[in-house]
Amino acid sequence: MRRAAIIAGLTAGLMRRIRHFGDFVTVPLAAVIFLELAGIYRLHLVVMAVAAWTLLEYLVHRFAFHRYSVGRRLHLLHHDHPNDPDAERSSLSTPLIALPIGLLLVGTLGVEDGSAIFAGLLVGYLAFIVVHYAVHRWPIEPDSWLYCAKMRHLTHHRFENCNYGVTTIFWDIVFRTNARTSGGRIHSGVGSK
Ligand SMILES: [Zn+2]
Ligand SMILES: [Zn+2]
Repeated sequence: MRRAAIIAGLTAGLMRRIRHFGDFVTVPLAAVIFLELAGIYRLHLVVMAVAAWTLLEYLVHRFAFHRYSVGRRLHLLHHDHPNDPDAERSSLSTPLIALPIGLLLVGTLGVEDGSAIFAGLLVGYLAFIVVHYAVHRWPIEPDSWLYCAKMRHLTHHRFENCNYGVTTIFWDIVFRTNARTSGGRIHSGVGSK
């Protein structure tokens, strides 16, 4: 009985770790595989897809997670409990979302072009989850780029209607949703929800 409880506890702990950290293993692995399939001559497509990811990240966060009720309900769990990994995305759902996108890209654009674009999107997603993890959980010194990203994102958590970009400030500037903080005050260009 006691042994069964220990095994159940270990299994639950392992599953929790897979849910929280699986993306940090599977996403770079998949990116390397698709970069290999794309080949060196499709590097420009990879770079373009990384840039496209930053816009996708902004739009999904702003609209799917803050405007529409289902996404908003799930996402606000993270806003309310920013340090609880169980309130964030699960790594188990990533392949379910990513796989159809990868198959669609490869099926319509061919192996090299489709793999290059998919690899770029994976690299962009990896940058997003690393930066998001860091700004919530790493002790970050002031005066670094990551500290700026942290302050920007914490401002988003507080006000909700600004700073939707996590990996880049660019689209917040373009769409006028960028808000800066200094001395506990919020400045400039805060857009609507
Ligand atoms: Zn967050
Ligand atoms: Zn948000």
